[in-house]
Amino acid sequence: MNDVIAKPSVTMTILKKYDLKATKKFGQNFLIDPNIIEKIAKAACQEGAAALEIGPGIGALTQFLSRYFKKVYAHEIDKKLITALNDIFQDTENIEIIPGDFLNVDFSDMPYRKERIVVCANLPYYITTPVLFKLFESDLNIQKIIVMVQKEVADRFLAGVGSEDYSALSVLTYFKYDIRLLTKIKKTVFYPSPKVDSAVISFTPKKHKELDEARFSELVKNSFRQRRKTLKNNLQDTFANIDKTINDLGFKDGVRAQELTLEDFLRLYGELYENQSLR
Ligand code: SAM
Repeated sequence: MNDVIAKPSVTMTILKKYDLKATKKFGQNFLIDPNIIEKIAKAACQEGAAALEIGPGIGALTQFLSRYFKKVYAHEIDKKLITALNDIFQDTENIEIIPGDFLNVDFSDMPYRKERIVVCANLPYYITTPVLFKLFESDLNIQKIIVMVQKEVADRFLAGVGSEDYSALSVLTYFKYDIRLLTKIKKTVFYPSPKVDSAVISFTPKKHKELDEARFSELVKNSFRQRRKTLKNNLQDTFANIDKTINDLGFKDGVRAQELTLEDFLRLYGELYENQSLR
């Protein structure tokens, strides 16, 4: 296909030709703004890496990714869309459509399991979080994740210390990824137009010096165990002299986990595991 799929007129022609309707069940909202798509694909672009897309729809973003990446793997669940995509991209050799539910995918069977990949997608809103956590927990060689999500989901991921959404999961995500807001997106760039605005966020994996990740994760989760309790109360069963540690680190008496930044948790970890004995 040589025409730009994301042009509203081309999108309408494709939907008509293949007798397609945007299905709510699969969270289908198609992008109809080539400028935004080009901006996202350019931001994702990385020399030598392959692109992984979840939910190509009718291929608006896929088409641009195929220009910026040597190879694009795109997982699509909707059978009618899969038929249309295979026809639309029959002459585009670097696009591979993988049929089925992405959440059921076993990565060890995937053709990209050993490749460096950049995830780039306009995610179906009803499974945004499980898709992201499936990626976070995978052992894929992910260089970067750039995704379009509902604005409130982006806000949750970007939630800072003290906010209602700040949780053990926020700390553990910040520990693993540098998270940035790339741009906010108006509802008018989609067909059909959703009820809420969206945003594009990026996750770039961080490299940490030697640290036992499982232990760190346990410490953060224990610290948030009972949100209304103080850090001291949540940790005193595990650590002797937690009072002294809190003091030594300069945290105020009665501090709660949700008041600590990622850096505070890293300092707490250092102090507890280097200087103190476990109960
Ligand atoms: N990428 C296209 C675009 O930007 O125009 C479509 C994005 S639309 C928001 C989400 C896409 O994800 C749809 O094509 C939908 O069928 C697909 N999808 C929904 N659930 C899925 C799942 N579990 N696995 C794979 N694809 C899924």
